[in-house]
Amino acid sequence: MAIKKIVKFGEPSLREPSKEVHKVSQKIKNLVQDMLDTMYSQNGVGLAAPQIGENLRIFVIDVSTGNEPLNPMVFINPKIIKKSGACISHEGCLSFPEAYTDVKRYEYVMVKALDTNGRSFVMEAKDGTLLARCIQHEFDHLDGILFVDHSINRFEAEEVLKKFNLPPLQVEKLLDEPELTEAVNKLKEAQVEKDKNA
Ligand code: ZN
Repeated sequence: MAIKKIVKFGEPSLREPSKEVHKVSQKIKNLVQDMLDTMYSQNGVGLAAPQIGENLRIFVIDVSTGNEPLNPMVFINPKIIKKSGACISHEGCLSFPEAYTDVKRYEYVMVKALDTNGRSFVMEAKDGTLLARCIQHEFDHLDGILFVDHSINRFEAEEVLKKFNLPPLQVEKLLDEPELTEAVNKLKEAQVEKDKNA
């Protein structure tokens, strides 16, 4: 239907919490279609409504690759009802052109949401797959949280933002996440050991 302009890091609306959708009306369905069109036009794997300037609790994901058929997934009023484990995720975001950095994520999530027909569904994503990490990334957008807030190394993240002429990291937004930090540090150490022995 329409490709929308993507809100970039530094614009205040990306930090605003989004509102619940009261009814999956035709207007909402049109917005979902615009979100998918916008995501595909940028070769993105996910997009949240606030990224096109609509502070509503909706995100879309498509993690299909290569020759696989498109597999759009729509999440309206999502709730993460279970999460566990930890993994390191190398992430970027359409609101942060070209900038990628390592962030902390859960390995497993269970999410409950409404689809475009207003029907409730539950989805599980395991093993730190792209889908599992993407759900967390997009869900965060609805609460004004950005992937860099989960940075494993804030200095590295700052360098990346500078390199791509993005505004500086908002240090006060960095998340503490003790339950993830410990597990992720162990994963990092294990990686260093493996590299030494390689
Ligand atoms: Zn994003």
